[in-house]
Amino acid sequence: MAKKFDWNEAGKGLLTEASQIKSYIDLSDEELKKMEEILDAYPMCITPYYLSLIDKAAGEEDPIRKMCIPSVSETDMSGAFDTSGEGSNTVLRGLQHKYHATALILSTSRCAMYCRHCFRKRLVGADSEGETEGNIAEMAEYVGSHPEISNVLISGGDSFLNTNEVIKEYLDRFTQIDSLDFIRFGTRIPVVLPERIYGDDELLDMLEEYGKKKQLFLVTQFNHPKEITQESIKAVEALRKRGVVVRNQTVLLKGVNADPAILGKLFKQLTSIGVIPYYIFQCRPVTGVKNQFQVPVLEGIDIVQKAKDMQNGQGKSVRYCMSHPKGKIEFVGKTHSGKVLMKFHQAKYDEDAGRLFTVEMTDTDCWLPEDIEYGDVL
Ligand code: SF4
Repeated sequence: MAKKFDWNEAGKGLLTEASQIKSYIDLSDEELKKMEEILDAYPMCITPYYLSLIDKAAGEEDPIRKMCIPSVSETDMSGAFDTSGEGSNTVLRGLQHKYHATALILSTSRCAMYCRHCFRKRLVGADSEGETEGNIAEMAEYVGSHPEISNVLISGGDSFLNTNEVIKEYLDRFTQIDSLDFIRFGTRIPVVLPERIYGDDELLDMLEEYGKKKQLFLVTQFNHPKEITQESIKAVEALRKRGVVVRNQTVLLKGVNADPAILGKLFKQLTSIGVIPYYIFQCRPVTGVKNQFQVPVLEGIDIVQKAKDMQNGQGKSVRYCMSHPKGKIEFVGKTHSGKVLMKFHQAKYDEDAGRLFTVEMTDTDCWLPEDIEYGDVL
């Protein structure tokens, strides 16, 4: 019998209130009040499945807990809300066009779980004031009338939090556009609510059918080996069986995976289940995130290199990048003089395409200013 995911059932047992956290952390009345204030600004939602991955005995150091349960450091107001200029790339409600070849769609502001390190904290779980949930027909018309766009990334929030009907409408419209080579979905569902995939034949049938018209990719975000479970593997296998290519983007997070052994293990395990790790992103200097999770670039380069040394060619294809307002910039390595060698992997402006440059960074620098001073390579 065809399985159908039950959203009502999934809604039961979600952890959304500060008072519910008390069984996971000892909170004084004052801390509870603080937590309520944090949740007013940045909502919390944790699925029972993801919660079950927490090792309570590890206390505050548990990496899963760090990614889902708020910390008081989220009240730190340093940083910014839109660190890569997403608002300025919005050409239609819900549609960004930063790079010639890619249209990015923010299909919803909701996620199954609100990651504490989220770079879209400004809009997830909130009224996003025009940045999400655009008119699908209008967006398809924009994409169809820009033949330089060869792929769309349907993201959010979490694109798989949309109903099957909405996902179908995206697929229906975009698979008809000749200039598109493929369609990507950005979703953390395989990691936080895998049953929404392996337990929904309607969704899987649909992905298989539309995948015959255009190649479908699913881009997910595994950040720690503990997230690779029998359940998440089941979701990945279900997708792969239906012809969907699954790839992974990890965020480098202090206290979670900023360790070569952990990161190396993550990449190896991902490759072994057929999920190619293709980016490791520098955590953005987002308000409420930066002080808790960012790793200095010089340290990050060493961590990523050591993790890559543990990989075969597939795992080694991962690139350590930052999403800067000017483009996706790769941290290639360190020069003999200790500067950081960088390369534009994707550029917003043509004059930056493929640009190689160096930047002098201190041991504590985690990001580049908007006006980058491009140092010589030699
Ligand atoms: S799934 Fe993505 S958009 Fe949603 S909270 Fe996590 S990082 Fe943010």
